[in-house]
Amino acid sequence: MTTLKNVLIEARKKLVDAGIDDAASNVDLMAASILQTDRGRLPLLWHEPCESAFIESLMTMVQRRCQHEPLQYILGSWSFLDFVVNTGPGALIPRPETEELFVDLSGYIEKFILNKNFLFADVCTGTGILGVALARKFPSSHGWLSDISNDALNIAKSNLELVENWPDRLGLLRADLLSSFASAVFEVIVANPPYVCSSDMAGLQPEVRDFEPALALDGGENGLDLIGKMLEQACFCLKNGGLLAFEHGHGQRNDILSIIPPSFEVLKTADDLCGRERYMVLRAIR
Ligand code: GLN
Repeated sequence: MTTLKNVLIEARKKLVDAGIDDAASNVDLMAASILQTDRGRLPLLWHEPCESAFIESLMTMVQRRCQHEPLQYILGSWSFLDFVVNTGPGALIPRPETEELFVDLSGYIEKFILNKNFLFADVCTGTGILGVALARKFPSSHGWLSDISNDALNIAKSNLELVENWPDRLGLLRADLLSSFASAVFEVIVANPPYVCSSDMAGLQPEVRDFEPALALDGGENGLDLIGKMLEQACFCLKNGGLLAFEHGHGQRNDILSIIPPSFEVLKTADDLCGRERYMVLRAIR
């Protein structure tokens, strides 16, 4: 009789042999997802016999992971803050540094945006995490989630129902950054734009390089093509006193500070939990 424990041990070994980090937690999360249970409850099932359908599903997932496909794509969902979003190869996977950006931005919204019935834009929305998180945190807000990629928009669309009353509050738009929006309409703009230097793309870890969409990663020669364009457009689209928060790469902070238009004050430049330069929050002042 094959028990769950035996199958998990075999699956872990395959991942270790393929050089995958965190083999144990990867396997546990796969098993928990197939069994539709919490990872913490698996030990209660360790000595239960395994059905062949379970073993087949788990080994298919393990094989995909051995090819370095991100666990987040294999599972088809991943957590961001207090909710779980659908994930897929058309959009970047949710990352903890984006959670940090969101938490800081929320604090600045509490402080500076007095009317909580505000309009926001989440550009380069990908899975929609930032826009969905904003709409959940500020239940009177309204927002546009935009992306240039239809594949990303399809994933974002599947995540809108995480927001109460979303059909009245959120719009999805295929657009190039902020080019489709009018002057002085937004109180808040948030973005996780592509910011990897083109020359660094080939050196990214295989999970990122071979599976995540290059369109969502490649920021041009110095990584700042989209951030530069967004800064210019945000001057036009933000209301006076409005906030712009965005993610960027390590080593880009000074270059970004040198191109910020004079109609912005810098409220915060922040490192992420790994100590890498990661995001900033600006305020429009006219
Ligand atoms: N954080 C990602 C990475 O370093 C890049 C995300 C992005 O370009 N927006 O791989």
